[in-house]
Amino acid sequence: MKKIQFVDLQAQRAFLGAKIDDAIARVLEHGRFIMGPEVKNLENQLRIFTGMERAVSCSSGTDAISLPLMALNIGPKDAVFVPSFTFAATAEVVALRGATPVFVDILPDTFNMDAAHLSLAIKGIKSAGKLTPKAIIAVDLFGQMADYPALRKVADEHGLILIADAAQGFGASLNGKQAGHWADVVTTSFFPAKPLGCYGDGGAVLTNDNELANIMESLRVHGKGTDKYDNVRIGLNARIDTLQAAILIEKLSIFSKEIEKRNQVAARYTRELGDIVSAPCVMDGAISTWAQYTLKVNKRSHIQASLKEAGIPSAVYYPKPLHQQTAYKDYPQAGNGLPVSDRLAGEVLSLPMHPYLDEQTQQFIIAGIKKAVADNC
Ligand SMILES: *Cc1c(COP(=O)(O)O)cnc(C)c1O
Repeated sequence: MKKIQFVDLQAQRAFLGAKIDDAIARVLEHGRFIMGPEVKNLENQLRIFTGMERAVSCSSGTDAISLPLMALNIGPKDAVFVPSFTFAATAEVVALRGATPVFVDILPDTFNMDAAHLSLAIKGIKSAGKLTPKAIIAVDLFGQMADYPALRKVADEHGLILIADAAQGFGASLNGKQAGHWADVVTTSFFPAKPLGCYGDGGAVLTNDNELANIMESLRVHGKGTDKYDNVRIGLNARIDTLQAAILIEKLSIFSKEIEKRNQVAARYTRELGDIVSAPCVMDGAISTWAQYTLKVNKRSHIQASLKEAGIPSAVYYPKPLHQQTAYKDYPQAGNGLPVSDRLAGEVLSLPMHPYLDEQTQQFIIAGIKKAVADNC
């Protein structure tokens, strides 16, 4: 049997045939490697895909969160509320701006930010009187949208900007609407292993706020005014490469189909494993992009070792929540700590997940999980 891949990018490349190679060849031919025509073309396609007014492509999912924070002048003495159970970039960009990330707990069933705990966090920061609450960065962890209707309510109550870090959940929906229906700004990453990835680093910011988008377009090219030799603000070099844009245009053209296939794979896992382990829970009306298919298990290290022995790759996202990390442990936490994040960090286990996982391979993985669980309980 072929080696089982956790994410199979070669299968996707084979499915796309010569399209990606042709797209790369076209860029090599025209030679406009920086801000070539594919960059605008990709941004137009992203606007169509999301239904949002403006798409600003950029160099990574991390810079995609930095750009709106910079454009909104968020900095020292400002508080930005983030989940602790996420990839470090979500909090890192806040700290890099000199602002304070405030860690909020998650809901045990969806792994996403707990709106009630967020409320508590905002009130706590307000009553301490040292920091000004400015923004919330919610994360669509593992591909499922955060509970934006609830988070939007909290944001409005306190006059805060709501940013959706959709690096994992770009294209996800709730009742047919994507994150931008609720969030002021949506960011995503095109890191290769994300649901919509390129062959290197890349990212994008989406918004309906034209003024904000104009500032972000300036920031990504050294704070340019009329051109990059006219510098009207302190910016970054945060452009996406033309080559990556060309690759993404091809991948975006099949992305909706891929999300459907990911949902078929997830449904099969849940049907087969739902009775023996704690399978992921999707909110009513929600469609996940299944960046990860993540179980909650006891005796994780034993189960993971059994799977490894059977040739089945698995991964732990995330072994340590940010508020426990050396770099972040001194930043404030809401309430009396983050018990759900602490507990889930010890239980989560992600299985191979990609649109090209064939049924036979998946049945082999499922059998491996069943055996690993039976052997370890
Ligand atoms: C991957 C990821 C990022 C960062 O994206 P990069 O493109 O690697 O910079 C940010 N937030 C979340 C939730 C992510 O999963």
